[in-house]
Amino acid sequence: MRELHHFIGGKKVMGTSGRFADAYQPMTGEIISQVPLANSAEVRAAVLNAKAAQPAWAAVNPQRRARVMMKFLELMTRENEALAELLAREHGKTIADAKGDIQRGVEVVEFAAGIPHLMKGEFTDGAGPGIDIYSMRQALGVVAGITPFNFPAMIPMWKFAPAIACGNAFILKPSERDPGVPLRLAELMIEAGLPAGILNVVNGDKESVDALLDDPDIAAIGFVGSTPIAQYIYGRAAATGKRVQCFGGAKNHMVIMPDADMKQAVDGLMGAGYGSAGERCMAISVAVPVGEGTAEELMRHLIPRVESLKIGPSTDSSADFGPLVTGAHLQKVRDYVDIGVTEGAKLCVDGRGFKMQGYENGFYLGGCLFDHVTKDMRIYKEEIFGPVLSVVRAQNYEEALALCNDHEYGNGVAIYTRDGDAARDFTSRVQVGMVGVNVPIPVPLAYHGFGGWKKSIFGDLNQHGPDSIRFYTKTKTVTSRWSSGIKDGASFIMPTMG
Ligand code: NAD
Repeated sequence: MRELHHFIGGKKVMGTSGRFADAYQPMTGEIISQVPLANSAEVRAAVLNAKAAQPAWAAVNPQRRARVMMKFLELMTRENEALAELLAREHGKTIADAKGDIQRGVEVVEFAAGIPHLMKGEFTDGAGPGIDIYSMRQALGVVAGITPFNFPAMIPMWKFAPAIACGNAFILKPSERDPGVPLRLAELMIEAGLPAGILNVVNGDKESVDALLDDPDIAAIGFVGSTPIAQYIYGRAAATGKRVQCFGGAKNHMVIMPDADMKQAVDGLMGAGYGSAGERCMAISVAVPVGEGTAEELMRHLIPRVESLKIGPSTDSSADFGPLVTGAHLQKVRDYVDIGVTEGAKLCVDGRGFKMQGYENGFYLGGCLFDHVTKDMRIYKEEIFGPVLSVVRAQNYEEALALCNDHEYGNGVAIYTRDGDAARDFTSRVQVGMVGVNVPIPVPLAYHGFGGWKKSIFGDLNQHGPDSIRFYTKTKTVTSRWSSGIKDGASFIMPTMG
């Protein structure tokens, strides 16, 4: 078992708080590292280091900042196998899925490499006599990102790539459950030419997060994680005057219309419901067949597919999904399955008895499938974050739409149909931030924004895409007049260009 470190000022720094968290290898259940949990003095030291480095970085011209991103992309190609292997070992997802996690992060780095164009301001020539108006975007200073366990490569890159490209210094507080990849990403950014102090990784738990939220030298906080923590972070950081965006939990529905291509819908449900053991904020956790005939046909196809899911260790390239992240999380998901049975839902496929031969201490759960789930049940209302799919039968389209709209989460949703009118009505009226039409996981690409609605977001700007540049910069607008346009004499009326 190895002791991990922080990464501050361009180098590894061992923890001094004396507090540690165990990080596991989910496929075997072993503890593989001790993660140092920073105290507020360690966080403050990292912030001061970043604060000292930031002005010089902001003064580097954007094309040169972009070149660091481009070099980092080269290194990510070189390191792809090793990073995927490390990610899968710490998180539990399969190596193929880990590569997808890395790839969706890399795409945001590619987007951020366009920073010379993305940061351009606006200009009005001749707004009045001799008067020009222009706006510029400037970095905020030191900003911080607090990220969840489930995408340990993608979400850190979603945060630090646009922030750093804009000229900010960044403090990343990754999940204490799988910090190995984030630490490695920071080393690679330094190898790519990023000056020391611009990307720092501070490991920790609530104590370090609170220190970041209260730090007077942090200008903005970006958070991704569960809704209760998102709400807490939003309130506490906003109270200190910071710019804040917090992305929370989810309960994503897939509506299956009677005219849907059932094979495509079932394929979509299998991947989106059970991929990564359901530990995705865009996982489909509720299937809503419209009409009894659709529901019966769906269950006829779905049950054998869920029964034949292949669960395996992260290293098994033929596995559909691997173990859950920790024993505690496994227990929580199992408890939800018990709750569903007690609540009266019909457990059509029960994965609770699944044992992985040769990996008896790993955190495995077989795929679970509930039918006849109703909207008053806890397994419908709450986020489970495991390989558990609930089927809620709707009598008609309006009832299916109302289910999506009445749920307190609004991250992602999908509709499967061949009817353009139904799809158009759904995309227009559904109260959810990211919508798929015959697409089960509608995560927008890097140059569009990612963000849910309702309890899935606190704040108003999305991740990546143009919103990320808005979030990580402040706009300054200059009105300039040169002497040829200046008339003699003071004017005491409100200036207009009329
Ligand atoms: P989590 O909320 O437990 O932890 C997220 C981060 O917050 C971690 O860095 C953790 O150390 C920190 N944290 C935890 N408790 C804290 C506390 N009391 N005070 C301060 N900081 C605290 O989330 P998780 O279990 O790591 O990740 C899974 C959750 O993230 C799910 O709810 C999932 O839906 C959500 N998620 C959302 C998105 C999105 O974009 N909406 C993306 C991925 C994951």
